[in-house]
This record gives sequence, C-alpha cells and structure tokens, in this order.
Amino acid sequence: MNQEEYGLVKEVTSQVLSFPTIPCTGGRYCVPGCPMSIQIPDLFTAYNSIKTYGPSRRYETWYKNHTRDGHGTASACIGCGQCEGVCPQHLEIISLLKNVSEEFDKE
Ligand code: SF4
Repeated sequence: MNQEEYGLVKEVTSQVLSFPTIPCTGGRYCVPGCPMSIQIPDLFTAYNSIKTYGPSRRYETWYKNHTRDGHGTASACIGCGQCEGVCPQHLEIISLLKNVSEEFDKE
C-alpha cells in the first residue's frame, strides 16, 4: 500500500468509527436467557445499519423479521438485567435497547 492509499484507508476508518453504533460483537450470550425472547444482537444490527447507512425500508424489514414469532421488540424489554450480566462487552443493553426502540418502535 502506498502513502496515498494508506491515508485514504485511515480517513475512511476514522469516518466509520465516528458513527454512533453499538459495539456488539454478536456473541449472542445475552439471547437464551432473555424472558422476552428479544433477539438483541439482531436488533443492534438493524440500529447500526441505520446509523451507518441512513434510514432504509430494508433495515425496518430486518427489524420486523427479528421481532415476530414470539420475539420481543426493543420496547418489550422489562429491564431484568440478565443480558447485561452475561455480555462480554459489558454493554449497557437496557439503555441501548431504548435507543433502538426510539428508532424502530414508532408506530
Ligand atoms: S434486560 Fe431486557 S433485553 Fe435484557 S434479558 Fe432482560 S428483558 Fe431481555
């Protein structure tokens, strides 16, 4: 990689890192114990996609597909804390789900 290419990669990396996304690594340790059966990492994926690429019906559809068949929406969270206790990234999932809910549970 030459100096110009390196500079471009650095600039793009910096821009991507500046997006207000949730640093979930998708380990899914949080999912099995959720009493509301919320597919937490999948809802974070929908949220991160909107924050990175802008609003799109595609991400709304993704959200809807992961909040059907008995799986709770972000607003269904009852704040039990199970998920936060097992998250290796120590994410504040309860609070983050409120952000997700504001984005997707508008109806
Ligand atoms: S705090 Fe909310 S998302 Fe986490 S396990 Fe409890 S109900 Fe599920």
